[in-house]
Parts: sequence; C-alpha cells; structure tokens
Amino acid sequence: MNAASINIDLTPTTAILNGGPLPTVIAGPCSAESEEQMLQTARELKKDKRISVFRAGIWKPRTRPGLFEGVGKPGLEWLQTVKQETGLLTACEVANTRHVEEALAYGVDILWLGARTTVNPFSVQEIADALVGVKVPVLVKNPVNPDIQLWVGAMERLNQAGITDLGLIHRGFSTPNNKPYRNHPKWETIQEIRRLLPGVPLFTDPSHIAGRRDLLQTVSQQALHLGVDGLMIESHINPDVALSDASQQLTPQDLDTMLTALDLDAEHVANPEQLQTLRNLIDRLDNELINVLFLRSDVSRRIGEYKRSHALDIYQAGRWSQVLENRLQLAQQTGLDEEFVKAIFEAIHGHSLGLQNEVIASAPASRTPVQ
Ligand code: PEP
Ligand code: MN
Repeated sequence: MNAASINIDLTPTTAILNGGPLPTVIAGPCSAESEEQMLQTARELKKDKRISVFRAGIWKPRTRPGLFEGVGKPGLEWLQTVKQETGLLTACEVANTRHVEEALAYGVDILWLGARTTVNPFSVQEIADALVGVKVPVLVKNPVNPDIQLWVGAMERLNQAGITDLGLIHRGFSTPNNKPYRNHPKWETIQEIRRLLPGVPLFTDPSHIAGRRDLLQTVSQQALHLGVDGLMIESHINPDVALSDASQQLTPQDLDTMLTALDLDAEHVANPEQLQTLRNLIDRLDNELINVLFLRSDVSRRIGEYKRSHALDIYQAGRWSQVLENRLQLAQQTGLDEEFVKAIFEAIHGHSLGLQNEVIASAPASRTPVQ
C-alpha cells in the first residue's frame, strides 16, 4: 500500500504516551475476577519498577455466549483500589458508551479499544462520540482481520472527537494459518502503521499474539527489535485458574523473569555474514517461486480459453478436490505443514479462477459445445 501518511493531532498529556528511554510495560490479568485476585496480582506487579500500568478486562468480548463475560462495575471498584493502594496507572477495555461512562466515573486512567471493536466503525464512532470533551489517553488495538485501514480509521475517528493522547496496540491478526500463534503477528504491519501514523506510540501485546506462555519471550523480543514503544502483557496471580485466557497469562514472578531476560533497549537487528548468506538464498528461492507462479498463471489463462471455447464451467469441483488432495499428499511426503500448503493452494486456485473469469469476460462468447 502506498497511501501517504495521515496527520493526526498528537499532544500527549501523560507520561505513558510520551515515551521514555525504555519501553513502557502494561501488565495485569486478562479479566478482573475478584478483589483478591486483582490486589494480589497488582501488589506483585508493583514490585517490578519496569511496570507502570495495570490492565484488567472488566467487560469481556467472548466469541461464544455462556463463557465468562466479565464482572462489570465491581471490577471498576477493584481497579480503583489497585490504583489507590499501588499507585499504578489503570487501564481497561471499553466497547460502548456505557463502558466509557462507567470507566471514567471510576477514574480509570487509560482506555483501550479491543480488536473486536476496531473492526466496527459504528462502535468506534459511538465511543468517539462518548469521549467528546474528555481528556483521557486511548489505545487502539489492531482489528481482528488484517485490514490496516480499519485501524487507521479508528484512530482518525477518536482524533476527530478531540482525543490527542492516542496510542496503538499491535495484538496480531486472524489469518488463514496462524500457526504457531493464536493471532498472526504479521510483523510487517508494524512498519506499515508507523509509516501511516508517524509519531504515534506503538505497543505490542505478545499475550494475544502468542496465546501460549512458551512463545511470549520470542514474540516480545521480536517486537522490541522492531522498536515498539512498549508491551502489554497479561499477568495473573494464578494463571491456571484464570477465567479467561489461562494458557497465555504469566505469574508476576514469571513476568519479572521474562522481562529480565529480554533486551529491553533492543532496537537493532543482528546482521552477521551467515544471516546475509541465508537471506541471499531466500531471495533466490523467492525469485524462482515468482517465476513458477507466473508460468502457472499463463497456463491458467490458456485453460480459461479452452473452457470458454468449449462452454465449460470455470469451477470444476471434482478437479479442485483432486488437486488439493494431491498437493496435500505431496506436502505430507516432504514434511511441510499441511495447513500452510492448503492455504497457499487455496489462494493460488482462487487467483486462477479469477484469471479464467477475466478471459471469459474479455472475449466475445463464441462458444462451441463440448464434443
Ligand atoms: C484482552 O486484551 O484481553 C482482549 C480481549 O484483547 P483483544 O481485543 O486483543 O482480543
Ligand atoms: Mn485476554
């Protein structure tokens, strides 16, 4: 995408969005569950000087009904107690006008829009309208789907409502093949959003990208190498009994260990000779891939011409099942991940049908019946 960068008025009034020499760490449970869980977690997190903001989900957007949907108002009281007792800034997700009003009434310091809200311009506009005349920092998570324009649009709506303390949270995307992540990081998005919204503080949320504890450190380190301004990480006093996102939360002690192991001031990319050699190899292989795809597209077009002149339908279900089955068998023989190969061939097949449709649309219908 080559759109020019977008000007939004950023006049941050809080230290957290001004940025410091080291990344800001926002930590806390996925969900507020009880006063005890909140306070125990916050007291431990407070001991770590690298952590300046305590997060907790008060209203939880769940994919299916019947799961834990958050405690609501009592959670806001616990957040207030956390703030009074520990001095940590507090943050929670808001998804509608009522959330905004209640969170502000309880003195929550930072609001964020979740990934399921950023996808919906109606919801974003509703929140922006509720924030007119209010001075509060707002962080916007990327939308669930990899559409960067929705992300930018949400920032613009908030900015047009007068919010100038704005930040972005990169939490990964739902893609055809997220493995091994819960949400694919699509790291190139970091560069793209920085180009589109220069100067806007950018956080990465390794918890929702990884979805599992063992990947958190690698994901966090990669984000830091790309120069993000901070991390939002889920931490729970007893993750195994957490009511949401149990498998991705860290105890405050484990978070401390992980932060210590990270190179927090790591805006550099190692580039030794060996890496360069491997990159040259990748460049050559990608070149070959592109050539093969070009040749394949040409054959697809010729098939389109044949189908047109013989009045055959473009989509042939039997043939596509055979192709997919055969390619998956080949993938299995080589040890390649089947989901990965399936996603690639679905994309190639979709493109091929598109080319054949073009052939049919571009030439006059001079069909001769199949023999
Ligand atoms: C969360 O932060 O707990 C959450 C629901 O995140 P996301 O909107 O990224 O899914
Ligand atoms: Mn969560």
